[in-house]
Amino acid sequence: MDYQIALLGGDGIGPEVIAQAARVLERVGTAFGHSFVFKPALIGGCAIDATGSALPDETLAACRSADAVLLGAVGGPKWDNPTATVRPEQGLLGIRKGLGLYANLRPVKMNEMLIGASTIKPEVLRGTDLVVVRELTGGIYFGERGRRDDGNTAYDTMIYSRAEIERVLHTAFRLARQRRGKVTSVDKANVLESSRLWRETATIVAKAYPDVAFEHLLVDACAMHLIRRPATFDVIVTENMFGDILTDEASMLAGSMGMLPSASLAEGTLGLYEPIHGSAPDIAGQGIANPVGAILSAALLLRLSLGLEQEALAVERAVDQVLAEGYRTRDIAENASEVITTTVMGDLICERVTA
Ligand code: NAD
Repeated sequence: MDYQIALLGGDGIGPEVIAQAARVLERVGTAFGHSFVFKPALIGGCAIDATGSALPDETLAACRSADAVLLGAVGGPKWDNPTATVRPEQGLLGIRKGLGLYANLRPVKMNEMLIGASTIKPEVLRGTDLVVVRELTGGIYFGERGRRDDGNTAYDTMIYSRAEIERVLHTAFRLARQRRGKVTSVDKANVLESSRLWRETATIVAKAYPDVAFEHLLVDACAMHLIRRPATFDVIVTENMFGDILTDEASMLAGSMGMLPSASLAEGTLGLYEPIHGSAPDIAGQGIANPVGAILSAALLLRLSLGLEQEALAVERAVDQVLAEGYRTRDIAENASEVITTTVMGDLICERVTA
Protein backbone atom coordinates (compact mmCIF):
# COMPACT_ATOMS: atom_id res chain seq x y z
CA MET A 1 0.00 0.00 0.00
CA ASP A 2 1.19 3.56 -0.80
CA TYR A 3 1.07 6.19 1.95
CA GLN A 4 1.58 9.93 1.43
CA ILE A 5 3.39 11.61 4.32
CA ALA A 6 3.84 15.40 4.50
CA LEU A 7 7.30 16.04 5.98
CA LEU A 8 7.64 19.37 7.79
CA GLY A 9 11.13 19.52 9.31
CA GLY A 10 10.84 23.16 10.43
CA ASP A 11 13.76 24.85 12.20
CA GLY A 12 16.81 24.03 14.34
CA ILE A 13 17.07 20.31 15.10
CA GLY A 14 13.62 19.73 13.51
CA PRO A 15 14.97 18.64 10.09
CA GLU A 16 17.73 16.55 11.75
CA VAL A 17 15.34 14.43 13.83
CA ILE A 18 12.63 14.23 11.14
CA ALA A 19 15.18 12.85 8.67
CA GLN A 20 15.76 9.92 11.04
CA ALA A 21 12.03 9.35 11.54
CA ALA A 22 11.56 9.26 7.75
CA ARG A 23 14.37 6.71 7.42
CA VAL A 24 12.69 4.52 10.03
CA LEU A 25 9.41 4.71 8.08
CA GLU A 26 11.27 3.69 4.91
CA ARG A 27 12.72 0.74 6.79
CA VAL A 28 9.20 -0.20 7.97
CA GLY A 29 8.12 -0.03 4.32
CA THR A 30 10.85 -2.47 3.28
CA ALA A 31 10.21 -4.85 6.18
CA PHE A 32 6.41 -4.91 5.88
CA GLY A 33 5.87 -4.28 2.14
CA HIS A 34 4.50 -0.70 2.24
CA SER A 35 5.59 2.33 0.29
CA PHE A 36 5.89 5.77 1.88
CA VAL A 37 5.91 8.80 -0.39
CA PHE A 38 7.31 11.87 1.40
CA LYS A 39 6.17 15.37 0.51
CA PRO A 40 8.56 17.93 2.09
CA ALA A 41 7.09 21.35 2.93
CA LEU A 42 8.08 24.50 4.83
CA ILE A 43 6.80 25.67 8.21
CA GLY A 44 8.00 28.14 10.86
CA GLY A 45 11.09 30.33 10.57
CA CYS A 46 12.43 28.68 7.40
CA ALA A 47 9.03 29.29 5.76
CA ILE A 48 9.12 32.96 6.82
CA ASP A 49 12.58 33.34 5.27
CA ALA A 50 11.50 31.70 2.01
CA THR A 51 7.95 33.03 1.58
CA GLY A 52 7.19 35.68 4.24
CA SER A 53 4.57 33.39 5.86
CA ALA A 54 5.03 30.87 8.71
CA LEU A 55 2.51 28.57 7.03
CA PRO A 56 2.50 28.95 3.25
CA ASP A 57 -0.68 27.85 1.42
CA GLU A 58 1.26 25.08 -0.36
CA THR A 59 2.22 23.58 3.02
CA LEU A 60 -1.37 23.42 4.22
CA ALA A 61 -2.43 21.97 0.85
CA ALA A 62 0.32 19.31 1.05
CA CYS A 63 -0.85 18.35 4.57
CA ARG A 64 -4.52 18.19 3.57
CA SER A 65 -3.80 15.84 0.70
CA ALA A 66 -1.51 13.58 2.78
CA ASP A 67 -2.43 10.55 4.92
CA ALA A 68 -0.49 12.04 7.83
CA VAL A 69 1.92 14.83 8.74
CA LEU A 70 5.31 14.45 10.44
CA LEU A 71 6.59 17.71 11.98
CA GLY A 72 9.94 18.59 13.59
CA ALA A 73 9.85 21.88 15.51
CA VAL A 74 9.66 25.58 14.75
CA GLY A 75 11.34 28.73 16.07
CA GLY A 76 14.74 30.02 17.07
CA PRO A 77 16.60 33.19 18.09
CA LYS A 78 16.69 34.47 14.51
CA TRP A 79 12.90 35.00 14.58
CA ASP A 80 12.59 35.78 18.32
CA ASN A 81 11.33 39.31 18.03
CA PRO A 82 8.18 39.70 20.16
CA THR A 83 7.06 42.72 18.15
CA ALA A 84 7.35 40.97 14.75
CA THR A 85 4.01 40.53 13.01
CA VAL A 86 5.06 37.21 11.45
CA ARG A 87 6.33 34.61 13.92
CA PRO A 88 7.23 30.90 13.58
CA GLU A 89 4.60 29.75 16.14
CA GLN A 90 1.89 31.11 13.86
CA GLY A 91 2.73 28.12 11.69
CA LEU A 92 1.80 25.73 14.53
CA LEU A 93 -1.46 27.49 15.47
CA GLY A 94 -2.35 27.81 11.78
CA ILE A 95 -1.80 24.15 11.01
CA ARG A 96 -3.83 23.02 14.07
CA LYS A 97 -6.70 25.22 13.00
CA GLY A 98 -6.32 24.52 9.28
CA LEU A 99 -6.39 20.75 9.75
CA GLY A 100 -8.99 20.80 12.57
CA LEU A 101 -6.62 19.04 15.00
CA TYR A 102 -8.76 19.08 18.15
CA ALA A 103 -7.18 16.30 20.24
CA ASN A 104 -3.54 16.32 21.31
CA LEU A 105 -2.21 13.03 22.68
CA ARG A 106 0.97 12.84 24.73
CA PRO A 107 1.98 9.39 25.90
CA VAL A 108 4.45 9.20 28.79
CA LYS A 109 5.89 5.75 29.32
CA MET A 110 8.66 5.20 31.80
CA ASN A 111 11.57 3.38 30.28
CA GLU A 112 13.22 1.29 33.01
CA MET A 113 16.65 1.92 31.43
CA LEU A 114 16.28 5.70 31.84
CA ILE A 115 14.54 5.78 35.21
CA GLY A 116 17.57 7.51 36.75
CA ALA A 117 17.25 10.47 34.33
CA SER A 118 14.08 11.77 36.02
CA THR A 119 14.05 14.05 39.05
CA ILE A 120 11.33 11.86 40.63
CA LYS A 121 12.16 8.82 42.77
CA PRO A 122 12.33 5.51 40.82
CA GLU A 123 9.86 3.77 43.15
CA VAL A 124 7.25 6.45 42.39
CA LEU A 125 7.88 6.33 38.62
CA ARG A 126 8.06 2.59 38.10
CA GLY A 127 5.16 1.36 35.95
CA THR A 128 4.15 4.82 34.67
CA ASP A 129 2.41 4.43 31.31
CA LEU A 130 -0.13 7.18 30.71
CA VAL A 131 -1.51 9.39 27.94
CA VAL A 132 -2.71 12.96 28.40
CA VAL A 133 -5.43 13.87 25.89
CA ARG A 134 -5.61 17.65 25.63
CA GLU A 135 -8.43 19.50 23.86
CA LEU A 136 -6.56 21.68 21.36
CA THR A 137 -8.85 24.07 19.51
CA GLY A 138 -11.17 25.51 22.19
CA GLY A 139 -11.13 27.02 25.68
CA ILE A 140 -9.46 30.16 26.97
CA TYR A 141 -6.82 30.28 24.22
CA PHE A 142 -9.56 30.86 21.66
CA GLY A 143 -12.20 32.77 23.69
CA GLU A 144 -12.82 36.49 23.57
CA ARG A 145 -10.09 38.58 25.19
CA GLY A 146 -9.27 42.22 25.59
CA ARG A 147 -8.58 45.22 27.79
CA ARG A 148 -10.82 47.85 29.31
CA ASP A 149 -10.45 50.74 31.80
CA ASP A 150 -7.81 52.37 29.60
CA GLY A 151 -5.86 49.12 29.44
CA ASN A 152 -5.74 48.64 33.21
CA THR A 153 -8.09 45.64 33.28
CA ALA A 154 -7.62 42.57 31.08
CA TYR A 155 -9.85 39.55 30.47
CA ASP A 156 -9.76 36.18 28.69
CA THR A 157 -12.81 33.98 28.23
CA MET A 158 -12.92 30.21 28.73
CA ILE A 159 -15.62 28.96 26.40
CA TYR A 160 -16.65 25.41 25.43
CA SER A 161 -19.59 23.88 23.60
CA ARG A 162 -21.01 20.48 24.52
CA ALA A 163 -20.02 19.18 21.05
CA GLU A 164 -16.37 20.21 21.52
CA ILE A 165 -16.24 18.44 24.88
CA GLU A 166 -17.98 15.32 23.60
CA ARG A 167 -15.66 14.67 20.67
CA VAL A 168 -12.43 14.86 22.71
CA LEU A 169 -13.97 12.65 25.42
CA HIS A 170 -14.85 10.04 22.79
CA THR A 171 -11.20 10.15 21.64
CA ALA A 172 -10.09 9.50 25.23
CA PHE A 173 -12.52 6.60 25.79
CA ARG A 174 -11.66 4.92 22.47
CA LEU A 175 -7.98 5.20 23.39
CA ALA A 176 -8.57 3.75 26.87
CA ARG A 177 -10.22 0.71 25.27
CA GLN A 178 -6.97 -0.02 23.40
CA ARG A 179 -4.98 0.43 26.62
CA ARG A 180 -5.69 -0.41 30.27
CA GLY A 181 -9.32 0.77 30.21
CA LYS A 182 -9.33 3.79 32.54
CA VAL A 183 -10.21 7.46 31.90
CA THR A 184 -9.63 10.35 34.31
CA SER A 185 -11.49 13.51 33.28
CA VAL A 186 -9.87 16.65 34.71
CA ASP A 187 -11.68 19.94 35.32
CA LYS A 188 -12.22 22.71 37.87
CA ALA A 189 -15.95 22.08 38.34
CA ASN A 190 -15.97 23.47 41.89
CA VAL A 191 -15.35 26.96 40.44
CA LEU A 192 -15.78 27.24 36.65
CA GLU A 193 -19.06 27.01 34.74
CA SER A 194 -17.27 25.70 31.62
CA SER A 195 -15.88 22.92 33.84
CA ARG A 196 -19.37 22.10 35.13
CA LEU A 197 -20.49 21.61 31.51
CA TRP A 198 -17.32 19.55 30.96
CA ARG A 199 -18.10 17.30 33.95
CA GLU A 200 -21.79 16.93 33.05
CA THR A 201 -20.85 15.98 29.45
CA ALA A 202 -18.09 13.60 30.56
CA THR A 203 -20.52 11.78 32.87
CA ILE A 204 -22.94 11.25 29.96
CA VAL A 205 -20.24 10.15 27.47
CA ALA A 206 -18.83 7.70 30.07
CA LYS A 207 -22.16 5.81 30.10
CA ALA A 208 -21.50 4.75 26.48
CA TYR A 209 -18.30 2.98 27.64
CA PRO A 210 -19.37 0.79 30.59
CA ASP A 211 -16.25 -1.36 30.08
CA VAL A 212 -13.96 1.63 30.82
CA ALA A 213 -13.30 2.69 34.43
CA PHE A 214 -14.02 6.39 34.84
CA GLU A 215 -13.30 9.12 37.38
CA HIS A 216 -13.40 12.92 37.66
CA LEU A 217 -10.49 14.79 39.20
CA LEU A 218 -9.99 18.48 39.92
CA VAL A 219 -7.03 19.95 38.05
CA ASP A 220 -5.15 20.98 41.20
CA ALA A 221 -5.48 17.47 42.63
CA CYS A 222 -4.39 15.99 39.30
CA ALA A 223 -1.23 18.13 39.27
CA MET A 224 -0.39 16.72 42.70
CA HIS A 225 -1.25 13.07 41.97
CA LEU A 226 0.77 13.12 38.73
CA ILE A 227 3.96 13.36 40.74
CA ARG A 228 2.72 11.36 43.74
CA ARG A 229 1.22 8.30 42.04
CA PRO A 230 1.78 8.60 38.24
CA ALA A 231 1.58 4.84 37.66
CA THR A 232 -2.13 4.79 38.63
CA PHE A 233 -3.19 6.85 35.58
CA ASP A 234 -4.05 5.46 32.15
CA VAL A 235 -5.81 8.12 30.00
CA ILE A 236 -6.17 11.67 31.36
CA VAL A 237 -8.48 13.95 29.35
CA THR A 238 -8.79 17.68 29.87
CA GLU A 239 -9.41 21.09 28.32
CA ASN A 240 -6.83 23.15 26.45
CA MET A 241 -5.08 25.26 29.12
CA PHE A 242 -5.17 22.61 31.89
CA GLY A 243 -3.79 20.18 29.30
CA ASP A 244 -1.04 22.57 28.28
CA ILE A 245 0.21 22.68 31.86
CA LEU A 246 -0.37 19.02 32.80
CA THR A 247 1.35 17.70 29.63
CA ASP A 248 4.51 19.62 30.47
CA GLU A 249 4.39 18.35 34.03
CA ALA A 250 3.80 14.77 32.82
CA SER A 251 6.66 14.99 30.31
CA MET A 252 9.11 15.70 33.11
CA LEU A 253 8.31 12.30 34.61
CA ALA A 254 10.22 10.75 31.71
CA GLY A 255 13.34 12.81 32.37
CA SER A 256 14.34 13.87 28.86
CA MET A 257 12.56 16.11 26.37
CA GLY A 258 14.16 14.28 23.46
CA MET A 259 12.35 10.99 24.12
CA LEU A 260 8.66 11.86 23.96
CA PRO A 261 6.31 11.79 20.96
CA SER A 262 2.92 13.41 20.43
CA ALA A 263 -0.04 13.14 18.11
CA SER A 264 -2.68 15.72 17.18
CA LEU A 265 -5.82 14.23 15.67
CA ALA A 266 -8.65 15.59 13.54
CA GLU A 267 -11.97 13.95 12.61
CA GLY A 268 -11.22 10.91 10.44
CA THR A 269 -7.72 9.49 10.22
CA LEU A 270 -5.60 12.56 9.39
CA GLY A 271 -3.15 13.37 12.17
CA LEU A 272 -0.05 15.45 12.83
CA TYR A 273 2.84 13.79 14.68
CA GLU A 274 5.74 15.60 16.32
CA PRO A 275 8.24 15.19 19.15
CA ILE A 276 7.32 17.31 22.17
CA HIS A 277 10.63 19.16 22.21
CA GLY A 278 11.34 22.46 20.47
CA SER A 279 13.96 23.38 17.88
CA ALA A 280 16.83 23.30 20.43
CA PRO A 281 18.90 26.08 18.81
CA ASP A 282 21.68 25.45 21.36
CA ILE A 283 22.53 22.10 19.72
CA ALA A 284 21.20 22.59 16.17
CA GLY A 285 23.56 21.65 13.33
CA GLN A 286 25.86 19.58 15.57
CA GLY A 287 24.36 16.19 14.75
CA ILE A 288 23.85 15.35 18.44
CA ALA A 289 20.06 15.74 18.87
CA ASN A 290 18.14 12.75 20.17
CA PRO A 291 15.87 11.53 17.35
CA VAL A 292 13.87 9.10 19.54
CA GLY A 293 10.94 11.50 20.19
CA ALA A 294 10.58 11.99 16.42
CA ILE A 295 10.94 8.25 15.71
CA LEU A 296 8.32 7.36 18.35
CA SER A 297 6.08 10.02 16.76
CA ALA A 298 6.41 8.07 13.50
CA ALA A 299 5.31 4.95 15.43
CA LEU A 300 2.19 6.83 16.61
CA LEU A 301 1.57 7.88 13.00
CA LEU A 302 1.64 4.24 11.92
CA ARG A 303 -0.76 3.24 14.70
CA LEU A 304 -3.25 6.12 14.77
CA SER A 305 -3.45 7.43 11.19
CA LEU A 306 -2.56 4.34 9.14
CA GLY A 307 -3.91 1.63 11.47
CA LEU A 308 -0.60 -0.29 11.25
CA GLU A 309 -0.32 -1.62 14.82
CA GLN A 310 2.27 -4.34 14.13
CA GLU A 311 4.47 -1.83 12.32
CA ALA A 312 4.14 0.68 15.21
CA LEU A 313 5.11 -2.02 17.71
CA ALA A 314 8.11 -2.98 15.57
CA VAL A 315 9.41 0.61 15.79
CA GLU A 316 8.78 0.84 19.55
CA ARG A 317 10.52 -2.52 20.08
CA ALA A 318 13.52 -1.36 18.02
CA VAL A 319 13.85 1.79 20.18
CA ASP A 320 13.64 -0.27 23.40
CA GLN A 321 16.24 -2.68 22.09
CA VAL A 322 18.75 0.04 21.17
CA LEU A 323 18.37 1.61 24.63
CA ALA A 324 18.65 -1.78 26.32
CA GLU A 325 21.91 -2.36 24.45
CA GLY A 326 23.21 0.80 26.12
CA TYR A 327 23.32 3.24 23.19
CA ARG A 328 22.68 6.86 24.22
CA THR A 329 22.63 10.30 22.61
CA ARG A 330 24.27 13.02 24.71
CA ASP A 331 21.07 14.21 26.44
CA ILE A 332 20.43 10.79 28.04
CA ALA A 333 24.00 9.56 28.49
CA GLU A 334 25.37 9.20 32.00
CA ASN A 335 28.88 8.63 30.69
CA ALA A 336 30.25 10.97 27.99
CA SER A 337 32.38 8.25 26.36
CA GLU A 338 29.38 6.21 25.22
CA VAL A 339 27.63 9.03 23.29
CA ILE A 340 26.39 8.40 19.74
CA THR A 341 25.18 10.87 17.10
CA THR A 342 21.67 11.52 15.74
CA THR A 343 22.40 9.57 12.56
CA VAL A 344 23.97 6.59 14.33
CA MET A 345 20.93 6.38 16.64
CA GLY A 346 18.76 6.39 13.49
CA ASP A 347 20.93 3.67 11.88
CA LEU A 348 20.75 1.42 14.95
CA ILE A 349 16.98 1.74 15.26
CA CYS A 350 16.48 1.09 11.51
CA GLU A 351 18.61 -2.06 11.72
CA ARG A 352 16.41 -3.44 14.50
CA VAL A 353 13.02 -2.87 12.79
CA THR A 354 11.83 -6.28 11.67
CA ALA A 355 8.46 -7.71 10.62
P1 NAD B 1 13.65 23.08 23.42
O1 NAD B 1 12.77 21.90 23.61
O2 NAD B 1 13.98 23.42 22.04
O3 NAD B 1 15.02 22.84 24.23
C1 NAD B 1 15.08 22.72 25.65
C2 NAD B 1 16.39 21.99 26.05
O4 NAD B 1 16.26 20.60 25.73
C3 NAD B 1 17.60 22.50 25.28
O5 NAD B 1 18.74 22.47 26.11
C4 NAD B 1 17.79 21.49 24.16
O6 NAD B 1 19.11 21.34 23.72
C5 NAD B 1 17.26 20.20 24.81
N1 NAD B 1 16.62 19.33 23.81
C6 NAD B 1 15.40 19.49 23.25
N2 NAD B 1 15.16 18.52 22.36
C7 NAD B 1 16.26 17.73 22.36
C8 NAD B 1 16.64 16.57 21.64
N3 NAD B 1 15.82 16.01 20.72
N4 NAD B 1 17.84 16.02 21.88
C9 NAD B 1 18.66 16.54 22.79
N5 NAD B 1 18.39 17.65 23.51
C10 NAD B 1 17.19 18.23 23.29
O7 NAD B 1 12.93 24.30 24.14
P2 NAD B 1 13.37 25.86 24.20
O8 NAD B 1 14.85 25.97 24.29
O9 NAD B 1 12.52 26.45 25.24
O10 NAD B 1 12.91 26.47 22.81
C11 NAD B 1 13.77 26.62 21.67
C12 NAD B 1 12.93 27.06 20.49
O11 NAD B 1 11.99 26.04 20.16
C13 NAD B 1 12.12 28.34 20.75
O12 NAD B 1 12.16 29.13 19.60
C14 NAD B 1 10.72 27.82 21.01
O13 NAD B 1 9.74 28.76 20.67
C15 NAD B 1 10.67 26.62 20.11
N6 NAD B 1 9.70 25.57 20.51
C16 NAD B 1 9.03 24.97 19.50
C17 NAD B 1 8.14 23.95 19.80
C18 NAD B 1 7.43 23.27 18.66
O14 NAD B 1 7.80 23.48 17.52
N7 NAD B 1 6.44 22.46 18.91
C19 NAD B 1 7.96 23.51 21.12
C20 NAD B 1 8.71 24.15 22.13
C21 NAD B 1 9.58 25.18 21.81
